[in-house]
Amino acid sequence: MEDLKNFQKYLLLRNRLFYKFNGENIRSAKEFLETKDIPSTWKAGLEAELFFYKKFETKLSLTPTLDAGDNSDFSGDYNGPARFDVTTNLDYKSLIDYEKSQYDWGDYYIALFDRKAREFEILDINFPFCDKCGEGRLFPIIVVEEANNKPFNWVSLYEACSYDGYDSQKIIEEQVLCPTPSELIEDFKHPSVQMKKRETLRKYSEALKRFFKYKNQKIPFLLGEYDYIITDREGGGYWGLNIRWEHPVLKDVYNPDAFIKI
Ligand SMILES: [Zn+2]
Repeated sequence: MEDLKNFQKYLLLRNRLFYKFNGENIRSAKEFLETKDIPSTWKAGLEAELFFYKKFETKLSLTPTLDAGDNSDFSGDYNGPARFDVTTNLDYKSLIDYEKSQYDWGDYYIALFDRKAREFEILDINFPFCDKCGEGRLFPIIVVEEANNKPFNWVSLYEACSYDGYDSQKIIEEQVLCPTPSELIEDFKHPSVQMKKRETLRKYSEALKRFFKYKNQKIPFLLGEYDYIITDREGGGYWGLNIRWEHPVLKDVYNPDAFIKI
């Protein structure tokens, strides 16, 4: 009950904020945000929505959505009808929350606001649904493989089903001057450096993401590396793809064994 009351209060504030922006101007909307007694957790989100509205109102033909029940903040046009969810933090976002609406309705984008840089990154999360199994979605994956002519390694971009790994296609393959993920993290074995290890892999993935963004419009959301995966005590196992990094919106939405076959 308290949650519902809070939610209604939030929507009321949001309506008034956009009314100030549309009916008056951005300055009075900002003033409203700064002077009104608004909980700081709400303020960050409302500020991001206001900036998004101001920046893309015309370019994306934005209209604020009235019902926040489908996780969208705006509807508009981005290569066709689209909905947008504006956020400052991806930790609370998961593809699962959008899947039903994407299936029933169409394209969704997450507009991630970087408060320091005052910039948005518009994330295309419209991964195609797999035609074969109907369960999974086709995710873009970077796969790094050791090459013979060090310090170069093979870096490929694949697209593969998150449920069974089928339909995998190699989109692009390049020799790149970069370490493999395991070379990069070989010194991070101790439990006390696991955070540093994750951060190192994140930065590495971000760099490769930029590389593929430049080469190709598909932005990778997973990073994998071939490994001998041991399954029994005698050292038996198989060669398969180990996922080393995942984009935060993909947490809990893919079958880790699906990509072994790539
Ligand atoms: Zn499939």
